[in-house]
Amino acid sequence: MDRERPGAQEWVPGDGGVARLREAVQGCRGCELWRDATQAVFGDGPADVRLMLVGEQPGDREDLAGEPFVGPAGGILDRALEAAGIDRDQVYLTNAVKHFRFEERGKRRIHRKPDVPHIEACHPWLDAELERIDPAVVVCLGATAARAVLGRAVKIGEERGAPLGLGDRVAVVTVHPSSILRLRDRAGRDAALDGLVDDLRVAAAAARAGAR
Ligand code: SF4
Repeated sequence: MDRERPGAQEWVPGDGGVARLREAVQGCRGCELWRDATQAVFGDGPADVRLMLVGEQPGDREDLAGEPFVGPAGGILDRALEAAGIDRDQVYLTNAVKHFRFEERGKRRIHRKPDVPHIEACHPWLDAELERIDPAVVVCLGATAARAVLGRAVKIGEERGAPLGLGDRVAVVTVHPSSILRLRDRAGRDAALDGLVDDLRVAAAAARAGAR
């Protein structure tokens, strides 16, 4: 991490909607991750929704496509959303960190988890999305998203699936869909998917109930 960088704040427009943010993020130099990525991948979805889902960072496929959750983890998330009765077109999907962090091994680009300074550098973009979208409920998909949204370290196993106070909003913490992909046995994957679905149902119920 290039520590003389001030983070993303100076690149975040003070006004305008999500479309303006999406355009501006391509010029962000708030940390070094822009250098090797293809492009920034900003959030996607309608601006008037009550439910926002936050993941970790774009993966290889998302980096190339410029859209969040279009790769294998996105496929798992689609299944979980459908099983939870949530229309993907009625949620806003984004990531805590907007550029893909990876290391090259031969021709492959292998995901590298963002460090805390990357999460903090990129936080002004997430803040701007929260302000513009103003969701009632924020689902944190995995520990990186939970840290970005809640501002502290979170043990997913201890805090998942229960509404957590987030100012005048509610946060619900759950696993990242990619953690389900990494499980080797079918029974384990099915159980983990069921757990994700249960947590998403909690979030959907909180959004329906008003949550604030
Ligand atoms: S990861 Fe975030 S802070 Fe870093 S350059 Fe990209 S948009 Fe800016």
